[in-house]
Amino acid sequence: MQIKQTQWHTSERYIRNAIRKIRKHMALRFGILTVSTTCFMKVKEDVAGPKLEAEISETFPDSKVTFKRIVSDDEQSIAEELKNVSDADLCDVIFTVGGTGFAPSDVTPEATRAVIDKEALGLELALISRSLAMTEMAMLSRLACGIRKKTIILNFPGSTKAAIECFGFIKSSLVHAVELVRQRNERVADTHRAIQQNNEFTESKVKIQVGALRHRKSPYDMISVQVAQDIIFGKMKFCENAETEVVSVTQALERVLAEDISAIDPIPPFPASIKDGYAVITSDGVGQRAVKAAMAAGDEPAKSVLHSGEVIRISTGAAVPAGADAVVQIEDTTLIAASENGSEEKIIKINVAPTVGQDIRPIGSDIHAGTLVLKKYNRITAAYVGVLATLGFTKVRVIKRPTIGIISTGNELRNAGETLKPGEIRDSNKVTLLTLLKSFGYDAGDCGIARDHPNAVKATVEAALIQNDIIISTGGVSMGEYDLLKQVLIEDFHATIEFARVNMKPGKPTVFATLTHQGKKKYVFGLPGNPVSCCVTSLLFVIPALKRIELDASFKFWPLLPVKLENRIVNNDIRPEYVRVNIFQNTSLEFRAVSTGNQISSRLNSMVDANGLLLVPGKTTWEAGSVRAVHLFGQLHT
Ligand code: AMP
Ligand code: MG
Repeated sequence: MQIKQTQWHTSERYIRNAIRKIRKHMALRFGILTVSTTCFMKVKEDVAGPKLEAEISETFPDSKVTFKRIVSDDEQSIAEELKNVSDADLCDVIFTVGGTGFAPSDVTPEATRAVIDKEALGLELALISRSLAMTEMAMLSRLACGIRKKTIILNFPGSTKAAIECFGFIKSSLVHAVELVRQRNERVADTHRAIQQNNEFTESKVKIQVGALRHRKSPYDMISVQVAQDIIFGKMKFCENAETEVVSVTQALERVLAEDISAIDPIPPFPASIKDGYAVITSDGVGQRAVKAAMAAGDEPAKSVLHSGEVIRISTGAAVPAGADAVVQIEDTTLIAASENGSEEKIIKINVAPTVGQDIRPIGSDIHAGTLVLKKYNRITAAYVGVLATLGFTKVRVIKRPTIGIISTGNELRNAGETLKPGEIRDSNKVTLLTLLKSFGYDAGDCGIARDHPNAVKATVEAALIQNDIIISTGGVSMGEYDLLKQVLIEDFHATIEFARVNMKPGKPTVFATLTHQGKKKYVFGLPGNPVSCCVTSLLFVIPALKRIELDASFKFWPLLPVKLENRIVNNDIRPEYVRVNIFQNTSLEFRAVSTGNQISSRLNSMVDANGLLLVPGKTTWEAGSVRAVHLFGQLHT
């Protein structure tokens, strides 16, 4: 019996892969300046430039070539281009291709040295020494490398083969070089850590079980959703002694308050008028009055004092002047006399007898000084932000959130925008999850796509663990020989698989694991790859867990709403099914639910209009018109 083993790279390549994944977000910008008079004159086609571009895209798929140009072998033109690109900060790295030989016309290094602020001798040495190892002719290459402002400039020879080889020699150090030049300190630290720990980026201990050796039955117990949730909520307790942080009030939306907020000053801080009208003395009763002055919102309370027989014009929100004990709204008055040009009221008549305190908000009537206004562990809504602003808070202490990294797994996956080869599909799970989390206020990082090889899964998980407390991965948790996540977690990370089979549809193979990485507790959600399964399990396990570890006092679980079914719901499976439904309110104020159509777990469209999950027991049919409890997780519409 022969067991096929997939070929894999050297461990040096894992390190580079893993380091690359750490800074998925750092998309480099490259420039290519082809130096060749014949190409410039269109006598010859530029081959090396486009080849190098293809090589760059292959090596750094997230990066962009933001500058491409052909210039003649003219020192001034070359220098000019390099200067313009660096000064406009169009690229992080520019490669010149050509003009590096001994011919009188070869002036690229001279032009380069004329514009760089700093030399990069190490890069020059790397290029020359490694080229020499390939061919003695490299002795005749003159390659200058350096930095102008924040752009790294490297000279490559004009031969396509030599240019591509040169790129290969230095590509592994480019990301870090850019981080250093651009002082991306956070990333620099990550890279140093990753490099120091490169022993960790060795081969995975897991071997793919192909052929007849693979498991035919899951060794994991099937547990209920309720038990699975209890396990997760029980384990993810690291926020019980939650760390807190101070954020600006305007950035606090959806965060959980880590302190009680009390009012220092009373609101309103002065007796304020509720109406546009006149500040009056009630004992004067009805009748004509002289209009003494006007108080607008924002005017100093001490501006005017009211005496018997007078009124003061007053606007909503203005301070009620001393002497006044009521406000009479303008609708209850008549104008008797005005100034000649009509710009001022002179005499008005009070038509309705006022009562003491009428239409005045006394000091502290909205909020007394010292009152507890907002409570610790409540989630901050827009109105909370408003109250904080009213009370004069510009910053507020909130519960610190865990960092979350998202991984997709699968050989078949490509990022949107990439060309698909036969057999490939676009990765939708990662963007769906990033966005779903965002819709609940949580930021997560894109930790890339792991190919279905133990080494790749290991390297991707490792890179994600360096930066995150919680990893959410999708795919690779079923019974296939390429479903490697659990084994990699166990064998390479000594993780405890807390559960790996849940009695639900969709979402049966959901995995939850805990592990310690560099002395820190980490949590891994291994969600199934089917797009609907990954959404449903996120709603049932991930989002509630995130809310709980933030100590969100308002969140128990998604509320259950009694709704009348618009259509018949059939669950033929023995597992309980979470049917995606759209809950809406009809004109008779009844809540109704309509199924979102075919419920197969690959059909992401069944999530598109869903705002509810209807839990239907196994082998059950529910008729249209029956009233059932449905979990509401999204916005409710009419
Ligand atoms: P798996 O859980 O890896 O066996 O994947 C189950 C199904 O989900 C397969 O049809 C995969 O192609 C699909 N799938 C896995 N990951 C993704 C993803 N990130 N985006 C879209 N489909 C996926
Ligand atoms: Mg897969």
